Amino acid sequence: MADVTDLPLYSSRLELSRDALQNNIQFLRTRAGKGVTFSSVIKGNAYGHGIATFLPMAEECGVSHFSVFSSEEAVAALEAKLNPETRIMIMGMVDDAALGWAIEHEVSFYIFDMGRLLAARNAAERAGKPARIHIQLETGMHRLGFLESEYEELIRFLKENHGSIVVEGVCTHFAGAESVANYVRIRSQQKRFRKGVKAFQKVFPEIPYIHAASSAALLAYPDHLYSMVRVGIAQYGFWPSREVYMLLQKENDLKVKDPLKRVIRWSSKIMSLKSVGEGEFVGYGTMYMTTRRETIATVPIGYSHGFGRNLTNMGYVLVRGLRAPVVGLVNMNMLTIDVTDIPGVSRGDEVVIIGRQEEGEITVASFGEMSNNLNYEVLTRLPEGLPRSVVE
Ligand SMILES: *Cc1c(COP(=O)(O)O)cnc(C)c1O
Repeated sequence: MADVTDLPLYSSRLELSRDALQNNIQFLRTRAGKGVTFSSVIKGNAYGHGIATFLPMAEECGVSHFSVFSSEEAVAALEAKLNPETRIMIMGMVDDAALGWAIEHEVSFYIFDMGRLLAARNAAERAGKPARIHIQLETGMHRLGFLESEYEELIRFLKENHGSIVVEGVCTHFAGAESVANYVRIRSQQKRFRKGVKAFQKVFPEIPYIHAASSAALLAYPDHLYSMVRVGIAQYGFWPSREVYMLLQKENDLKVKDPLKRVIRWSSKIMSLKSVGEGEFVGYGTMYMTTRRETIATVPIGYSHGFGRNLTNMGYVLVRGLRAPVVGLVNMNMLTIDVTDIPGVSRGDEVVIIGRQEEGEITVASFGEMSNNLNYEVLTRLPEGLPRSVVE
């Protein structure tokens, strides 16, 4: 039997660029400064890049700390990691009944209430191994974390159980550091966090990781990074928001237009070409009518692959380095594009949905703006089942 991996069985391909990742990590590490641990955030299947492919590539770029949302993502990360030094941290959900599993596998996790702390202590005693915890402080997001009024009880408990509980970190999360509209709120969170950190450091002076910053905070508020940053979107080469990009442009007078390089490239092929006369409807219903004789190409990408129906008559893709607009309704598995103005267009031509092609580039940001989605949302909807390949 032929090796199916050699056959083009998939209707689109996802490629990850190691050079781009290396470039981004280097830029972000320099921003963070010496002595600050870089934790690569790989929740949401590594923002659609695929944990299994992305994690070992990041290891090659020197990353050895990864943050996931949940225990199921930690399972995927443990399976993907190649470096025995690599550490995994769960920032969100682990069922109380799975805490023992995390402890066994030396996966650290956030603790944000007393109930979870008790469960972690019990699981650690049963496992005969300490739980490595990160204490999450509530500083103003009002989602998860300990309130200041709970610190005393918490500290007492940690002191009494220091054999089974190791405080590996103290952390918080900001409520939207990517927008200047939240400036006052973020500054107030930082103040509260500083105070909380002091209270814990007084009792546990050697806590290895104090962390609060995500991509936006690292880029927009570099004054308080503590000893670790948790970087998601920026390592993949996307800006947390246009505002943060503008801020850096201004502040640093950047020599290069964009110091971040997109890691992912999503491409497909033209399935079929058709010449359609003037005044005809294309595809389902009456969404699009030709205004001249047009060459219409079909591409095997649809909303089931994450190319939203809201891009109907709105999105565009690249063919031969030029933009080709999406015309008509985006179907479940297909879309139609107008390639009339692309010289020499042929069946089988590469179609780029995200990424570069010759002089053209489609960033998810423009994709996102068109579809009123953020980078984050578009990326995490990339087809999970599609194999990812690493390119230089
Ligand atoms: C997602 C997430 C991050 C990373 O955010 P980016 O904006 O992608 O850098 C950091 N910390 C927590 C708690 C998160 O949930």
